[in-house]
Amino acid sequence: MSKTIIVSNRLPLQLSIEDGKVSSEPSVGGLATGLKSVHRDSNGIWIGWTGLTQEETPSELKADIDNAVEKEQCAAVELTQSDMDGFYYGFSNRTIWPLYHYFMEYAEFDDENWEIYKSVNQKFADVVLENIEDGDTVWVHDYQLMLLPQMIKEKRPDVSIGFFLHIPFPSYEVFRTLPWRDQILKGLLGADLLGFHTYDYERHFLSSVSRILGYEVSFNEITFKDRHITVDSFPMGIDYEKFHAFAKANYEQTDKTQSELQRRLDLHATATPDAKMILSIDRLDYTKGIASRLKAFEHFLEKYPEYTEKVRLVMLAVPSRSNVPQYQVLKKEIDELVGSINGRFSTVSWTPVWYFYRSMPFNNLIDLYTSCDVALITPIRDGMNLVAKEYIATRIDRTGVLILSEMAGAAKEMNEALLINPNDIGLIADTIKEALEMPEEEQKKRNKFMQKRLERYNVEKWAKDFMNKLDSIKGIQSQAKAQHINNSKQEEILAKFKNANKRIFFLDYDGTLRAFVNNPGDAKPDQKLLDLVTKLQAEEKNEVVIISGRDSGTLGEWFKDVPVTLISEHGVLKKTYGGEWELTESMNSDWVPTVQPVLQTFVDRTPGTFIEEKKYSIAWHYRKADPDLGEQRANELSNVIRELTSNHGLSVLSGNKVLEIKSSNVHKGKAATNHILNQEYDFIFCIGDDWTDEFMFQDLPEDAITVKVGVANTAARFYVDDTDHVRKILNAFAE
Ligand code: UDP
Repeated sequence: MSKTIIVSNRLPLQLSIEDGKVSSEPSVGGLATGLKSVHRDSNGIWIGWTGLTQEETPSELKADIDNAVEKEQCAAVELTQSDMDGFYYGFSNRTIWPLYHYFMEYAEFDDENWEIYKSVNQKFADVVLENIEDGDTVWVHDYQLMLLPQMIKEKRPDVSIGFFLHIPFPSYEVFRTLPWRDQILKGLLGADLLGFHTYDYERHFLSSVSRILGYEVSFNEITFKDRHITVDSFPMGIDYEKFHAFAKANYEQTDKTQSELQRRLDLHATATPDAKMILSIDRLDYTKGIASRLKAFEHFLEKYPEYTEKVRLVMLAVPSRSNVPQYQVLKKEIDELVGSINGRFSTVSWTPVWYFYRSMPFNNLIDLYTSCDVALITPIRDGMNLVAKEYIATRIDRTGVLILSEMAGAAKEMNEALLINPNDIGLIADTIKEALEMPEEEQKKRNKFMQKRLERYNVEKWAKDFMNKLDSIKGIQSQAKAQHINNSKQEEILAKFKNANKRIFFLDYDGTLRAFVNNPGDAKPDQKLLDLVTKLQAEEKNEVVIISGRDSGTLGEWFKDVPVTLISEHGVLKKTYGGEWELTESMNSDWVPTVQPVLQTFVDRTPGTFIEEKKYSIAWHYRKADPDLGEQRANELSNVIRELTSNHGLSVLSGNKVLEIKSSNVHKGKAATNHILNQEYDFIFCIGDDWTDEFMFQDLPEDAITVKVGVANTAARFYVDDTDHVRKILNAFAE
């Protein structure tokens, strides 16, 4: 039975060693909950690090540890202390984490850490590959393992791979500063499905792929060699039921079952019935905006002195990455700010900030969530922010106000919260006042919407959605119509070729015989290509036709010494060797002066684009333009031209980074079928790379060998990877 392999940096378990005995507890975090059904129900396996380095693992207990891990349906990746230093504390937390959260000045670019990051990803890949069986699916998690998808795909192209990034993906402008940007993108593109929390992260990623690697991006799909890669957003949810149920139990508990913290919170509430509590919870991380939050609270106390003794900020900061220098500096800054605010505003009976620097057990978190009237969550950047969702889930009577940073991924789904810019201290101060004064009716109205959404799109649904999408992609990929010409397929085609007596080859030029270059004028055929075509034509049973969108002047010049037939301008003109250029259909070009100025305005507005005028058509090229802008303008132009030319019998063809306007009764398909009319070919081979070639694929007889270069949607029967692959096959025919 096929299974799912989940891979994350940490395994979802807590190992402990006491008196020489190993025990393990499954962890209860959100991710483990969400993936429970994927992991447990389908005899899945979870691969990751146990939390103990090799140095910390007593050799006599190794077998016991392996057993404990296996009992939890897990497999361990063994890491040394220096692995952890370079891979986790180093590259992941000192390079990727700050960069992806837009803290560029904190990002360290250290070659040694990068090398360790690669080698540790390889260690993960090795364990995954040991555990993969046919038909399995792999789901890789987060920024520590961005090279893993490619490492797995190279060895197991048959396996379907998903990747989810739990932190933001930054704008291209930021991402491109990373020295290893190409490798990271290629690593990620080993996946078949890439998931992000929000559409913005998705769009940043797509733009980086298109600008840095130059791969074809169409909507949310990337085409790379023979693969389609889908990119989508899946906002991660929480275990809503659990938070809601625990909060309910918290309301119903008696004095006896109460925690010490809850007792204190209640005492405070009874002693000061009209005072309110504002909650702040995060890991102590520079991305969380804790300092600005404190400054905003200070500003609030200053600006609204009527709130003296009437409001308290309960702030929980969970220790995190305390061996990274920036976190040590931050800790000091926060300690000082809390000290200074309390020093400045406290009265004998009131301290404005209650500060806890520790982590709290689950029941105490619930105590805090349920006891506080306002949650103040103001990260500078945050991939999602689960605390915001958890606060809303615990509000049983639906009171409570969430103030949330618009820079948190969660803000995209929590529109009913009071959204603020975390850098605007004045705005936060005013919003605190607004929150404290918000009528209960309105609080309930807002929270009702958010609760419904969180309940429906919980973490389990998130995981299911991702897996369903991955399954459906797998389905589509396996039914892709065109077949790849691998070695054995090539042999089959060659056998057919050998048995045939009258053969014809329709060969497209740009993107097929010759790879694209930035300036079309530079794409002259190289000597090897001229020799290849000559040799193919030299066999008397063969006939070669070069069929291109190029103008006849260029094509005629390039192939003047090669004895082949040329068809130019997408089928408008034809010339046999030694003959003259002739129109294939009666044509006119009266319309060109109407269309040319329109194209010119697009050239003016879109740097890097230009017009190519041919005899019976006109083309706008945008290969050198900014990729996003180019696509956007191409769309716009094709709409404009369609309106303009609908009465002229013209059509707009979109080729590879080019739009071509020509008379609609001529195309390559018509030219090719006319050419073979009344002749008995028993081997027809046709190869091309873009939309203009699809007419040939559609119009030629069914038994023609139609071949597409690359694998976007095609009517061709076969496909090849790239122009090198084309030459390899043509060479085999010529031999
Ligand atoms: N949390 C916890 N113990 C604590 C404080 C918080 O387990 O003492 C949990 C909290 O319930 C939430 C998570 O830590 O699920 C924090 O997730 P979030 O997305 O808000 O921030 P991250 O730490 O992942 O950046």
